[in-house]
Amino acid sequence: MNLETGMIMAMADVKASLAGAYAAGERPTFVSVLPSGYDEIWKMHGVMLVVPIVPPDAPTALQFALRLRRDALISGICENCEATFAIKIEAEVLDVPLAGLFFPHRITCPGNDASTKKMLQGYRQAKHDEKFDLASAAASERLREDAGSNGVELDAAEFGDRIEQRIAELLSPPVPVCEHLESDPDQVWSTFIAHADWKCDACWEQERQEVLRTGTKFDAIEEFTCDLCRRYAPKSIAKLVIRHGIFLLRGGACARCQAHEASQRAIDATVSGGN
Ligand SMILES: [Zn+2]
Ligand SMILES: [Zn+2]
Ligand SMILES: [Zn+2]
Repeated sequence: MNLETGMIMAMADVKASLAGAYAAGERPTFVSVLPSGYDEIWKMHGVMLVVPIVPPDAPTALQFALRLRRDALISGICENCEATFAIKIEAEVLDVPLAGLFFPHRITCPGNDASTKKMLQGYRQAKHDEKFDLASAAASERLREDAGSNGVELDAAEFGDRIEQRIAELLSPPVPVCEHLESDPDQVWSTFIAHADWKCDACWEQERQEVLRTGTKFDAIEEFTCDLCRRYAPKSIAKLVIRHGIFLLRGGACARCQAHEASQRAIDATVSGGN
């Protein structure tokens, strides 16, 4: 499909025209980085190319494989196995075939699909775990800052089930999240227990300022309803902050729930030897 003229070309024509362009020394031009941060979009003759980014902290073998693949897309030939591009139909949208361009690297080439994919998955998983651990630690830190003496760190089984259930509800689709969580979920997620609207740290701080300015977020009933037992308790509501992994939940707890939680924690502390 030639996007520039709106003309749909047969696959053979696309291939011939691209081959001609590569042979004439024409090179794709950079368009943008994909939101995932893993790939870039380049374009040549109205054909979009998804070009892998070579992460500077990836293992050397993976960097080498990605660089081969990247250079092949840009130059038109793999310098290691001499694969040239091929075209296959990826999908059809309203009867219009959408073609993808790829390089059939030889199985002995370090840039081949199977081994690169395996290395890439390993690297991304490790990267994800690392970021997740950092986000968990940050959430824990935030809990201590925010909660002061009233912070309830999730460990008591009775509340654990209830809170885990609530988190599952708050995360069931469609989940309203800020754009930053959407593009990078490995960070601290904050919301009110009573209200599914997840925010990253920066957006949460903005929300907090907004609440400080306007006085309240919820109506008087919700404001004084315990988030653990859902009782209306205008006299005894105290601030409650709960962390579960990377999730931080804010709300209020009544005196009864606070006392219950405190005794649970005392029991847990005794059972686990004071840790
Ligand atoms: Zn190759
Ligand atoms: Zn945000
Ligand atoms: Zn309560």
